[in-house]
Amino acid sequence: MRLGILGGGQLGRMIALAAYPLGVRCTVLDSAAESCAAHVCDQIRGEFDDLQALYKLVQASDVVTFEFENVPVESARWLAERVPVFPPPRALEVSQDRLVEKAFFQSLGIPTPTFAAIDSRAEFERAIASIGIPSVLKTRRFGYDGKGQFVIREKADVEPAWQKLGGRPLILEAFVPFDRELSILAVRGRDGAIAAYPLVENEHRDGILHRSIAPAADLRGELAERAAEYASRVLAELDYVGVLAIEWFQDGPRLLANEMAPRVHNSGHWTIEGAFTSQFENHVRAVCGLPLGRCDAVGHSAMYNFIGSVPPAAEVLKHPEASLHDYGKNPRPGRKVGHVTLRTASADELRERLPAWDAEFER
Ligand code: AMP
Repeated sequence: MRLGILGGGQLGRMIALAAYPLGVRCTVLDSAAESCAAHVCDQIRGEFDDLQALYKLVQASDVVTFEFENVPVESARWLAERVPVFPPPRALEVSQDRLVEKAFFQSLGIPTPTFAAIDSRAEFERAIASIGIPSVLKTRRFGYDGKGQFVIREKADVEPAWQKLGGRPLILEAFVPFDRELSILAVRGRDGAIAAYPLVENEHRDGILHRSIAPAADLRGELAERAAEYASRVLAELDYVGVLAIEWFQDGPRLLANEMAPRVHNSGHWTIEGAFTSQFENHVRAVCGLPLGRCDAVGHSAMYNFIGSVPPAAEVLKHPEASLHDYGKNPRPGRKVGHVTLRTASADELRERLPAWDAEFER
């Protein structure tokens, strides 16, 4: 089986690494001279809307997937006329626009923060009046890792928010005073089988994921089931194949959907060592039409991202519980260049060690 992947970043690289033992050969399409996925699989160099490059990918693939949700939907549709493409292009369409995405969640009975669409200054004023302050102004498209958004904490922030983001299609959301942020990774096979990983607790710094704890600690009994049930509604509605991530705000007993990513996700990196089957392997299995593997956790994991640079391997690996992932990327401020997962046998042991690990992997 030959798997084509749109995007050659670390997610493409980890998909290719998981595909290898299954005998699945990967080719990534990426515009970089040497993408980090190209260290471990073949690469076609080109933009996502370059028809010649897309055609080469068709020639090299029995099935195509993507590791990036801002792939042009038209390119995914063009490919889907020539080779099976999973997840379905409609999942890209929904997740590329925050307004469409939130309306989609609500149409499935999945709660979200209160929101309003904004296309003009007058609509902005009306939305501020109805949703109130604090609130968050976001661009509808091309926002990620906290980019393209402005938190309006007080009246004095209203004008600067408009100065920064006005003139583009926007959405205003009520600011959720959440207890914590959670995410769920779920997977659906070509045969419609669904499996979900345990809920993960995520901490962001400057809008970028800093640390994930999996499974999330102190879960209220039915929260995990509710998240999995909501995820399966999304998977079924989209006739989805592959891994899907949904990010949540937990506010007391409430679970509000923030956004979804139709791909493997940073908050699922712990699954490489911390689950029966990694998110990357289950994604490959799903899109290649193979049976899914078990998603339950094996022990308790903490995952820390390395942003900008990777600490020396000898330092990280002083911890016998640590598994280091260096993506082989050039160091650059703000860039995700690696991660470490530390795994313990029990939740108590993880809790005991966490303060020391937090201090060490602080950035
Ligand atoms: P996003 O790009 O929408 O995932 O937002 C990045 C981060 O900003 C989230 O992980 C939250 O920490 C914060 N954030 C986004 N939307 C809201 C909201 N409506 N209320 C509170 N915090 C938010």
